[in-house]
Amino acid sequence: MKRQNWRKALMGLAVLSLPVTMLYLSPLLTLQGAVRGVVTSSLIFVILAATIAFFAGRVFCGWICPGGAVQEILFPANDRRLGGGRADYIKYGIAAAWLGALIYLFIRAGGVKSVIPLFGIESGLSLSSGKTYVMFYIAMGGMAFLSLMLGRRPFCRYGCLLAPFMIGGRKAARAAGTPCLRLEAESEKCIHCKLCTKACPMSIDVHGLVTAGDMFSPECISCGACVDVCPKAVLTLAWGSMAKKRDGDGAAKEQL
Ligand code: SF4
Ligand code: SF4
Repeated sequence: MKRQNWRKALMGLAVLSLPVTMLYLSPLLTLQGAVRGVVTSSLIFVILAATIAFFAGRVFCGWICPGGAVQEILFPANDRRLGGGRADYIKYGIAAAWLGALIYLFIRAGGVKSVIPLFGIESGLSLSSGKTYVMFYIAMGGMAFLSLMLGRRPFCRYGCLLAPFMIGGRKAARAAGTPCLRLEAESEKCIHCKLCTKACPMSIDVHGLVTAGDMFSPECISCGACVDVCPKAVLTLAWGSMAKKRDGDGAAKEQL
């Protein structure tokens, strides 16, 4: 479980660093920059996150996202597994609306005029005024409220506008078949204990993926929790091609 301890430590650090980092991830600041034709650090971050997802999956979400960390900290209060279905599509609607607004604002501003990473964060610190403190408490309070009401990482699952861009990167990598960080399963070793499903912070039916022979899930955040609880070492996180294949022993090896 060493990996999970490292993951928790990194996420704890991410939460502690929020007073510095919050605005660097702010989709609202991205729109404020677009009004003036400015590419902000938060827009650069969206592009970077999608690019990283192409090679390494949603590791940002699983390892260093402060929002995800806040939600996981509340697991002891409510770790109910979330259902998927139509609610999973809410975040795509939010991302589409944000992207539409971004494009509209850049067009109205006459295109991209400059790149200013510290736009709106001139001091380098995110929490530097009363307004930013209000934003901080609304964002963190909202995530905490959702977690307490619904269970495991509901904001990641339903409301994060960054997630669809990372999922897009992941799906592009799968379609291209390029090497990336992926989840593999040797299905024939599975004893169907379902500990992997119980451990997944994103409420993915991991055991279902193992038995179906396709480990791809757009909601996977490459946290490795399922790998670390499996008593039969069925699961591994490894680098390799996204293309579906079967090894010499007939074990299914699919990619996330
Ligand atoms: S499927 Fe495994 S690696 Fe992916 S989010 Fe769930 S526990 Fe983490
Ligand atoms: S934890 Fe391992 S053995 Fe148990 S159901 Fe999941 S893959 Fe199978």
